[in-house]
Amino acid sequence: MFAVLPEACVGCLACVRVCPVGAIAVEEPRVQIDDDACVGCGQCVPACPHHAIVARGDLARAAAVAAGGTGALILAPEAAAHFFPAKPEQVVNACHAAGFRVVTRGVIGDELVAMAYLQQWDDASWGTLIRSTDPVVVQAITRDWPELVPYLAPVCTPSEAEARYLQAKYGAMPVVYCGFAPPLGAGVVEASLTFQDLEELLRRVGVTVAAQAEVFTRIPEERRRYLSAAGGMPLAMLAEVGKPEVRRFKIVRGLHALPALAKTIRDGHDLGFIDILSHEGALDHPLAGPKDELFWRRKVCENTEPPRSRFPVVEEGVVASTGATFDIRTRARPLDERQVQVVLDAIGTGPNGKAWDCGGCGQPTCRKFAEQAALGRATLRQCAPYQTRRADEASREAAVDGVTGLSTYRVFIDRMKNEVERSKRSGESFAAVFLDLDHFKQVNDRWGHAMGNAVLKAVGAELREGVRAADLVARWGGDEFVALLPRTDTNGAERVAEILRERVASVGNALGLPEGAVTASFGVSCFDPETPPGDDLMELADRALYRAKAAGRNAIARATPPPGRAVRDSQIGRQVDS
Ligand code: SF4
Ligand code: SF4
Repeated sequence: MFAVLPEACVGCLACVRVCPVGAIAVEEPRVQIDDDACVGCGQCVPACPHHAIVARGDLARAAAVAAGGTGALILAPEAAAHFFPAKPEQVVNACHAAGFRVVTRGVIGDELVAMAYLQQWDDASWGTLIRSTDPVVVQAITRDWPELVPYLAPVCTPSEAEARYLQAKYGAMPVVYCGFAPPLGAGVVEASLTFQDLEELLRRVGVTVAAQAEVFTRIPEERRRYLSAAGGMPLAMLAEVGKPEVRRFKIVRGLHALPALAKTIRDGHDLGFIDILSHEGALDHPLAGPKDELFWRRKVCENTEPPRSRFPVVEEGVVASTGATFDIRTRARPLDERQVQVVLDAIGTGPNGKAWDCGGCGQPTCRKFAEQAALGRATLRQCAPYQTRRADEASREAAVDGVTGLSTYRVFIDRMKNEVERSKRSGESFAAVFLDLDHFKQVNDRWGHAMGNAVLKAVGAELREGVRAADLVARWGGDEFVALLPRTDTNGAERVAEILRERVASVGNALGLPEGAVTASFGVSCFDPETPPGDDLMELADRALYRAKAAGRNAIARATPPPGRAVRDSQIGRQVDS
């Protein structure tokens, strides 16, 4: 069983990228393995740069079997590399010392399935036959490519065959398996262990491998091969590969080949015998150790392999079945195509109209990601294009006022900062016009908030229409608005304010309100880089605005009039002192 250690996981998604069956679920902030989907390939373990994924067997049950003193342990041949420099004899002696009554090396299982494959090979009736000795491949097929199940060779895994053999030979005894290819059938073995688990079990019972005798202390179980190669392939079959008269024999490595196999078989082609393994072999398993030590591991195992037997090593009187049936395992949660489409729509497409397929989420394609999301194993927060679009939308929302469609206060302030800098560099002045609707509360009170909103919207439209393209109009808040006028002096700003005042005054009429129901008062201030205002520009405009209000409203007041010149109330012609 594989598990993610939450305290070590940093959510980098490296494991998601390598998992061939999409069994790693990202439910922020947690990354976890979906046991229903995991086929136990182990690829996620070395892929995690933070050592956050562990493979664990059922150590407690295995320890109970050892403590009982009547159980058997199938110790896969790869143990020789794992426990090196201890000798295989010392490892077997240690397992006996821990309490296992029988310790085997897994070769009988290989011999049994090799015999079964030789019978299949001699049978001319099949057209496509997929090797079924790798539990990872079998699980992947039964879960995700059920159309291939009828083509699986009806042969069990070597570890399963060996467990049955031991029970046939010794009677019903509990069996523990230790290695990378545990039996698949339920109840075939009592527990499965990794080599690290076995080390832990020995440590718990106080047995040290290095302290064991270097020769067997009990008569060992059969350790030699007769007709099999590692993994249960018959040598005779392998010897025929490549001969022109021999029917097709295809070697496939890795689960990524399964979709192509499924398609070819669906299309009605016979592929012959497909020798498929999830890895190059047991010594190449991700849990066996680093890739660059593969050669070394092979050498260790070769050097500890006993010489081949010249006679069959399976005891004639012991009858153990090597047959297998494969149940199609339906997904715990069926894939909902509509949900997949919802996710794909949320992701959207790239500028060329095609799926992004950027891989940033850990999945190779948007479609694969959408499937994972529909199964609850991924969230849109993993999707970079979706997140970028959401961020753009959020910043657009923050930049545009929802009622009037004008820019927001934030945008105005940013733009004004830029204008100040630009003005200092260019020496050109710019102006700000601050306006506030007169008695706007009365509009809301008399004609309702819907009319109030309609007035705000119409005022926004008039203001936008009344300025140049280079000017910026923003809603300051409530019924207050501002306009920023680049390259404009006070006189020019006053002329613009007059245009805007007239436009605002026309809104009431257009909305069917009485004459004079909608008017605004204006304050104008100017930033002259030669004599920059001491006060904040908007503060000055605001003060001018209040003078316009005080002068009777529907008027314009300037903040910094030239000496001797008064600010004019442009609607009613009264003079407003600056
Ligand atoms: S590889 Fe997976 S388990 Fe490891 S830190 Fe990254 S997300 Fe977590
Ligand atoms: S062991 Fe294999 S199938 Fe399971 S989560 Fe890891 S990579 Fe995926």
